[in-house]
Amino acid sequence: MDMANAIDTLPNTASGMRDSFGRRIDYLRISVTDRCDLRCRYCMDEIMQFLPKREILTLEEIAIIAERFIARGVRRIRLSGGEPLVRRDFADLAYALGRHVKSGALDELTLTTNGTQLARHAEMLVEAGMRRINVSLDALDPAIFAHVTRGGELAKVLEGLEAAREAGLKVKINTVALRGVNEDQVLPLLDYCELRGFDLTLIETMPLGEIEGQRSDQFLPLIEAIAPIRERHELTPLQERTGGPARYFALSGLNARLGLITPLSHNFCADCNRMRLTCQGRIYMCLGHEDHVDLKAAFRENGVAGIDSLLDRALAAKPKAHDFSVAQGAAPSTRRHMSVTGG
Ligand code: SAM
Ligand code: SF4
Repeated sequence: MDMANAIDTLPNTASGMRDSFGRRIDYLRISVTDRCDLRCRYCMDEIMQFLPKREILTLEEIAIIAERFIARGVRRIRLSGGEPLVRRDFADLAYALGRHVKSGALDELTLTTNGTQLARHAEMLVEAGMRRINVSLDALDPAIFAHVTRGGELAKVLEGLEAAREAGLKVKINTVALRGVNEDQVLPLLDYCELRGFDLTLIETMPLGEIEGQRSDQFLPLIEAIAPIRERHELTPLQERTGGPARYFALSGLNARLGLITPLSHNFCADCNRMRLTCQGRIYMCLGHEDHVDLKAAFRENGVAGIDSLLDRALAAKPKAHDFSVAQGAAPSTRRHMSVTGG
């Protein structure tokens, strides 16, 4: 596949995008596939119905649409999913978008991955222009890891992480805190990160899509999850942000930084700068709402010319905040899983 010519200079209208609450929107997350080789219990149901192939955008289409978003003022793009590295020819998309980091049109291109295929992609990611990636890892104990992911092999992810480090990628580990499942993994994960020069971010589980069991049983507020860390280290808030929702802390005696993503216990919507493009060609302006704008048909009919007005409509409709609840018996905020929208 040759995308090199598919993406030519577009008129730049990068005065920037703002939503109706005045928030600057310059961060795009793209879910390049809803498919995945794992079935994490907080993310997916055991049996999942994935989108038929004919409904998903080609990688060329994703690149061209992303280009238009860049021309409108997007400065950062994160590729996510589903598992982005299971999409065939993923490298073509990484190279196509990486060109814009090299040209200065984008500040950053990053990836969120479960790491199972990272060993064979790590060098390509660097070559394409990525400097840092997020890797999801909820446990260092192989049995707990296999339980959370419903059969995942920890060794593959650890191998992928080593490859990423050797390739020179800056790595942040993402860990979803789950009550009764991985509380005792938090300190080992922190030690693992410290030894390798990685950062660690803990995430509260969000009520997205139906899963087996109750979210309320899984939910572990981060204030509880970090209790063992606080027994060992003093936490000092850092001003630094990386464009996402995490708040960062320095830890006394360690180089590793700790990020906390607390959508439930501390809502971060006031400074949300994000929008999301799914592999189905929809723009979602909020992870926690069903409202979306469908770009695919307009794009296929009118090319990039069809994108701008829909993008404006999406901006105007961005909600002020999500209204997540993990109270016992509460319905999920959305029917779609995080893997559809891109985490
Ligand atoms: N497959 C890749 C991975 O696992 O990193 C990328 C997609 S995954 C949907 C992106 C991130 O969302 C992961 O860090 C995952 O742990 C997180 N995630 C998935 N479902 C979630 C949920 N319901 N609540 C909170 N985080 C979730
Ligand atoms: Fe797959 Fe990532 Fe969801 Fe786990 S969190 S099931 S790895 S998409």
